[in-house]
Amino acid sequence: MAWVITRLCRDCVDQACVDVCPVECIYAYTGDDHQKFPNQLYIHPEECIDCGACEPECPWEAIYEDVSVPEVLSEDTPLNALTVDNMDDFEVPTPEEQDQPTPEQVSDNKKKWGLEP
Ligand code: SF4
Ligand code: SF4
Repeated sequence: MAWVITRLCRDCVDQACVDVCPVECIYAYTGDDHQKFPNQLYIHPEECIDCGACEPECPWEAIYEDVSVPEVLSEDTPLNALTVDNMDDFEVPTPEEQDQPTPEQVSDNKKKWGLEP
């Protein structure tokens, strides 16, 4: 089992999750194909040890256990898995300090992606 970064991360990318991952399996895309790999972070499913440490660190509530990814975000599980065969284009990012989103911003982001009505 692995955890999944969903599209709720897109363009938020504060990277709060990166520092807590004990096996450094949370990656940023460094290639040119931004249609295929949008601006978000990705969890390598074969490196993830299923510890769950990243999930509570995400202020945008973007991280789910693979068995719990909501249906509306389900395409993000195979998207994270594409890291496995494309590791030349991924690297562990260096987190930068970011402002915390407000509860309203978190809710608006979920609405944007169809997770909340
Ligand atoms: S903490 Fe959440 S929003 Fe920030 S980079 Fe990680 S998954 Fe994305
Ligand atoms: S569940 Fe643990 S090992 Fe997997 S990405 Fe999150 S912090 Fe890293």
